[in-house]
Amino acid sequence: MAFKALNLSENVLRGVQAAGYTDPTPIQLRAIPVVLGGGDLIASAQTGTGKTAAFALPVLTRLGQHGRARVLVLEPTRELAAQVETAFRDFARFTDLRTVALFGGVGYGAQRAELKRGVDVISATPGRLVDYIKGGELSLNTIEILVLDEVDRMLDMGFLPVVKDIIARCPKGRQTLFFSA
Ligand code: AMP
Repeated sequence: MAFKALNLSENVLRGVQAAGYTDPTPIQLRAIPVVLGGGDLIASAQTGTGKTAAFALPVLTRLGQHGRARVLVLEPTRELAAQVETAFRDFARFTDLRTVALFGGVGYGAQRAELKRGVDVISATPGRLVDYIKGGELSLNTIEILVLDEVDRMLDMGFLPVVKDIIARCPKGRQTLFFSA
């Protein structure tokens, strides 16, 4: 089955084609319809199986066009937060949707400027995300889709209390996608 049959938006399909993908991977085949339908998801998927596109493509389709901060992806490491934001940006290249990566170890200036400009998708590590929330620069009350990626690693790294706090700040009616290895 091709990507075309999965009901992704025209603009997101163009992004998939530009990425050079022809056929969906098994996790993409199974997850994309669930996410497009608005359902919650718990999936076990290793890096390398195509799991980033499994959530990014239907999430971007659901967003449609630029609005407010509606998607939060939590990642255990800076590298993953950056990598996932790059994937979202690539797939969204034919839309007007905006993405930002928020992670520690770099200055606040550029990330803060992106937030001020207005973003649709945030890919973040828990610590740096909370810095912006506590500083009053970001609120999670507009989040419609929460993606908890590499949950097992986040818990191993001791992020449970901060992840719980972040989840509690998102609206109760949100869609939640949960990925673990
Ligand atoms: P991930 O598991 O999300 O880290 O993806 C692993 C690698 O597979 C990345 O380099 C993706 O660009 C690539 N990839 C993901 N989905 C597909 C697909 N349907 N066809 C070809 N490559 C893909």
